[in-house]
Amino acid sequence: MIYNENQQKIARKIDSDSSNSHWRDWKWQVKNRITSLSALNKLLELNLSKDKIEQIQKTISKFPLSITPYYLSLIDIDHFEHDPVFLQSVPSIQELTISCADMPDPLDEDSDSPVPGITHRYPDRVLFLVSNVCAMYCRHCTRKRKVGDIDEIPSKEVIDSGLAYIRNTPVIRDVLLSGGDPFLLSDSMLDYILTELRAIKHVETIRIGTRTPVVLPYRITDELVAILKKHHPLWINTHFNHPREMTTSAKQALAKLADAGIPLGNQTVLLAGVNDCPKIMRALMHKLTVNRVRPYYLYQCDLSEGLSHFRTPVGKGIEIIESLIGHTSGFCVPTYVIDAPGGGGKIPVMPNYLISWSTNKVILRNYEGVITTYREPDSYEPTFCDRNCETCDLQLALDDATEYRSVGIEKLLADHDETFALVPHDNDRMKRRD
Ligand SMILES: *Cc1c(COP(=O)(O)O)cnc(C)c1O
Repeated sequence: MIYNENQQKIARKIDSDSSNSHWRDWKWQVKNRITSLSALNKLLELNLSKDKIEQIQKTISKFPLSITPYYLSLIDIDHFEHDPVFLQSVPSIQELTISCADMPDPLDEDSDSPVPGITHRYPDRVLFLVSNVCAMYCRHCTRKRKVGDIDEIPSKEVIDSGLAYIRNTPVIRDVLLSGGDPFLLSDSMLDYILTELRAIKHVETIRIGTRTPVVLPYRITDELVAILKKHHPLWINTHFNHPREMTTSAKQALAKLADAGIPLGNQTVLLAGVNDCPKIMRALMHKLTVNRVRPYYLYQCDLSEGLSHFRTPVGKGIEIIESLIGHTSGFCVPTYVIDAPGGGGKIPVMPNYLISWSTNKVILRNYEGVITTYREPDSYEPTFCDRNCETCDLQLALDDATEYRSVGIEKLLADHDETFALVPHDNDRMKRRD
């Protein structure tokens, strides 16, 4: 049900006259965002200790709080301390722990910025921050340093100077609108930005990064979709981190966007205590694809200040990808990336499948542990060798060559052995063949 009992209770506490239509009105949701600890306490009745309240208050003064009534209503109050929605939205004192690895702007976005709001890092595309406002302040936000900073709200002039940079830079063929959340802008402002971008000949694709389908699904109105549809090819990336976020309201928002012909992607951040589990990730990826969202990136948590309690070792991400590749549909597998500190951009880190290779064979392993070979073409002549053995200095006729017995990977690499795969005894697939 879209308007369940819990949501009804929260809505009444916010506004005794509220109705179902209020709840589904995105402006009502934004207007009634929970931004103070007292409001949070009133709505959730968590019975927090005095200590805990003081801690949260202290955190809020550095990193502000904002939660939509809708997102708040997804918290399982009986188990809130381990609730993925709670952990992503309610401040924790751990945010004030600055670890030695932390940096205020780890991705060096400000250094790669030719004009305010634009980060031009890659050759053919730019990141364009068009909004500083979000419906919900994610506790794991990589741009925490900017959140809630009034001075950072991009003015019309800043947006126009960004547009001018793109107009005057012909190598840009892809513009990525982000923020803040671009969908917190008004319909008319969005239409203005998209119309201006579409008028630039060299801009081929426009992308929007938004978390509204997760934290404010009612923002995806028919009016908004009608505007977006005018500006194809337009791609949207959203940000689901946990299967619990895929509610009826979220599904409806995604369906509207997909029905408008907008290709949908998802960027998940790997977060300790929230989704650092192969089973949770697998369920999330399946829920996304069922709702026509293609998993795009899985991010290693950035080194921004105040995120140390969310970080996992890189091995956790590798383990998760290992549990997806081969085990489920290829389009359910995101690319695991680390956004390089210092502005190097996103670097893919995936499990290794290429075990070894010689000049004409590669040794591969699959998800089951099967080790196999791929024989490369004989007819391809690499330029580094003229294959004239008469003039070659290598001593090819080794006396004991015939006595040599090769084992393991070396056996697969050897030309004199016909074995082409090593298969474990207890492989389920092989048992089915018997
Ligand atoms: C992520 C990012 C992009 C887009 O990268 P893709 O790999 O093309 O999705 C562009 N610019 C900046 C600064 C980014 O951080």
